[in-house]
Amino acid sequence: MDRSLVPRSEGTLTVGMFHHTADTALFESQLEALLAGRIAVSGMQVVTALKGGEALPAGALWITFDDAYGDFLEVAWPVLERKGLPVTQFVATDFVGSNPSMFWWDRLESAFEGSTKSRIVLPLAGGGTQNLQVAGTASQAHKSARTEIKRFPHGEAMAIVEQVIESLGVSNPISKHRVLSWDELESLHGCGMEVGVHTRSHAMLDRIPAERVEEEIAGGLEDLKARFADVLPVLAYPSGQFDLGVMRVAEHLGMEAALTVDNGINRMGSLNPFEIRRVPIGPFADASAVRLRMLLGRLLGKR
Ligand SMILES: [Zn+2]
Repeated sequence: MDRSLVPRSEGTLTVGMFHHTADTALFESQLEALLAGRIAVSGMQVVTALKGGEALPAGALWITFDDAYGDFLEVAWPVLERKGLPVTQFVATDFVGSNPSMFWWDRLESAFEGSTKSRIVLPLAGGGTQNLQVAGTASQAHKSARTEIKRFPHGEAMAIVEQVIESLGVSNPISKHRVLSWDELESLHGCGMEVGVHTRSHAMLDRIPAERVEEEIAGGLEDLKARFADVLPVLAYPSGQFDLGVMRVAEHLGMEAALTVDNGINRMGSLNPFEIRRVPIGPFADASAVRLRMLLGRLLGKR
């Protein structure tokens, strides 16, 4: 093993961030790369340590999933369960059981994939428009559109999603993904999966009025508490969007910590609990891509 890839310093917290998993063997090798020289911990252990309780073991690794997609149950869970690894799922409660997925980016993706248009006009958040090529580059075009749309205030962004779908000429885009149902989540929770807060509607919290931030976080928490005896008091910021106001509201509502989507490995000593970085792992990343991400995360974590 390459020693340079093993964290030597104590007091680091690596948080793996998954959304989708595509394949059992690939997911196993992703976990292997994440776990090399590290010890898996639960979200509750992290919360306890952040509150000044028992410290985390050296090289702690927390495995997190966002959005509760169906492939978690089919691909990831059997592996995690077999290996006895703790995991936390962050659930946006409005979307539980949506089959096909009604998340805006999933609908947008299938609209891009199903479109026969060669180009569309994409409004830009900084003003003006972009003539976006679609034909032959649907997946790239979807990514660019998604990134640009996230720059708008949330309400406007959702209107642009509908406008873009219409201009792609796909009247009812059907996502290839689904979101787990309450029954499925309950049975996973019963088997040890932790559940954390990801708001109700997955609104970008720094792009909505302040009073809605509270509704979104408190509402998401309330929906989860109605189903689960114990909800992890941690928020994953939808789309990783947050600002100081959002952090304060989360803390005020009883959250003990919050997760960003910024790549980085955290050092417990100097960590702001409402700005925890993660290491994003895509469904098709192989072990060396995961190691590279973590190496990058260690560099970024030092900032
Ligand atoms: Zn999400």
